[in-house]
Amino acid sequence: MLQLHLEDLAEMVVAHGARRVGVQLPFGLRRRAREIAKTFGDRDIEVVFSGTPSYGACDVADAQMARADVDLLVHFGHSAMLPDSSIPVLYWEVVDDVDIIKTIRQHRDELRSRGRSVGLVTTVQHVHQLPSVRDYLVSEGFDARIGDASIRVSHPGQVLGCSFETATSLDVDFYLYVGTGYFHPVGISLATDRPVMYCDPYTEQCIDVTPVRDRIVRKRYAVIEKARAATHFAVVVSTRRGQYRIDEALNIKKLLREHGKTCHIIVAEAVDAALVQDFGFDAYVVAACPRIAIDDAPSFEKPVLTVTEVPLLFDDRPYQFDEIHKL
Ligand code: SF4
Repeated sequence: MLQLHLEDLAEMVVAHGARRVGVQLPFGLRRRAREIAKTFGDRDIEVVFSGTPSYGACDVADAQMARADVDLLVHFGHSAMLPDSSIPVLYWEVVDDVDIIKTIRQHRDELRSRGRSVGLVTTVQHVHQLPSVRDYLVSEGFDARIGDASIRVSHPGQVLGCSFETATSLDVDFYLYVGTGYFHPVGISLATDRPVMYCDPYTEQCIDVTPVRDRIVRKRYAVIEKARAATHFAVVVSTRRGQYRIDEALNIKKLLREHGKTCHIIVAEAVDAALVQDFGFDAYVVAACPRIAIDDAPSFEKPVLTVTEVPLLFDDRPYQFDEIHKL
């Protein structure tokens, strides 16, 4: 169960002196908007919700909320990433109190078959439980490690869909990801090319995601193959601050032109199927969130590549996942 700790939050907002507060929620928390509004309303604090999708701390609605004249923006569900903002931003992390160790205990023999050294990774909701997971696994004879926080994440062992440095910094036999959904564990597998055991405390399953990763890589090579026949490319740069990658876009443009292709840059807030269809280029490169090209691939009618897939058009080299290592 996700714990919002709204009373603690409200006390902080009161201490800040805010009378009007902007609230930005990830999709999974939108249903709790009324509960949040009531907590603030009980203290005579006015709430303005952002209706803009919030996929990560790379996309903070500070400029939008400045227009709504709020005193403070509360960004729920993600740890702090961006160093500056146009209005004060309070990143309110949400904690999941589900018992993780119960599921890990059920699957310890399966984990043992993957090796002795294991890197522990998860998302922000579960990071508070990683030290006790490590202690448990050490008591079972594992060499369990947690990677240091990095430039885009605040906590040891925390990962984002675009940033897996807490995993790649560890030399281990395999990784144990704790959480829900394939999005992060498959990303870890793509970024590390090592076995990743995905342990879901809600379904109580523990699954090796390597076959899923292999399937995705095969599909990515099929997209790359299609893009080889393309002549006219566009590179899309996102205006979302934590996804803004103009330098990468310019490098890709240069590389494509050196190989006889045309290439133009498009700046957009989001990269979606309509943009890909409307502009009419033969192929696209996403110099924004690297997961768009991979996870939204079925919605695109044209080949859409990540930044690190472009060199594979011209060179035979191993597949490389496109991570972001900056703010
Ligand atoms: Fe998530 Fe993509 Fe933003 Fe990274 S860039 S935090 S994966 S939405």
